[in-house]
Amino acid sequence: MNAESPKPPKPDPLAIDEAVIPQLDALDLIPGRPLVVSDADEVLIQFVAGLELYLETQGLWLDLQSFALTGNIKSRETGEPVLPAAMPALLDGFFAVQTHSLLVVPGAAEALARLSERAQIVVLTNVPFEAREARAASLAAQGIDYPVVANKGLKGGAVRRMAERVKAPVVFLDDIPHNISSVAKAHAPTHLIHFIADPRLAKLLGQAPDSHFHTTEWSAAEDFISERLKVDGF
Ligand SMILES: [Mg+2]
Repeated sequence: MNAESPKPPKPDPLAIDEAVIPQLDALDLIPGRPLVVSDADEVLIQFVAGLELYLETQGLWLDLQSFALTGNIKSRETGEPVLPAAMPALLDGFFAVQTHSLLVVPGAAEALARLSERAQIVVLTNVPFEAREARAASLAAQGIDYPVVANKGLKGGAVRRMAERVKAPVVFLDDIPHNISSVAKAHAPTHLIHFIADPRLAKLLGQAPDSHFHTTEWSAAEDFISERLKVDGF
């Protein structure tokens, strides 16, 4: 320990938040059946496109210069960025509206419906725990009717806990590279898809280093998953 340079501890890729464990253990997972674990924002839901619509109503716009919201949301009138201190309230406002007006990623519902004939599907999304039911209901209303787990922090631990129960091939989709890396560390056999619905964001970020496939399209993700399952004997 060095008191002069207190480094924050690195997040543990295997950690699972206490509130997530009971949700995982309540899932009706079938042993021996492949499992597809999908993030929601920017994978099933057009997060950036929805945010831009909301920002318009606030006289703001998103200047996609980097993979960050803070500093890139600017006033239409002055061009000044929204200050970091004002971001939480702005995003709370967006999430409150977004729950009721989701823009689903084209082809997601149809691809998952086809995949659900061969695999079990779980949505693993970092939303506040109290928002879980509303999010599940709005996804279901748009044809994405699968169990939703409200996660907190990295996702590796949660994916591993599910994988240990199914003992079958696991596929994981997320737009955030450190979530993909945490799953790579927690459960190495998982097939990792770096999915970003917004092509501008996908270009900006490039392929996540630990991922096996990078796409903005559900048709391509479905083909990749089908092929992996076939190779794994399913
Ligand atoms: Mg996401």
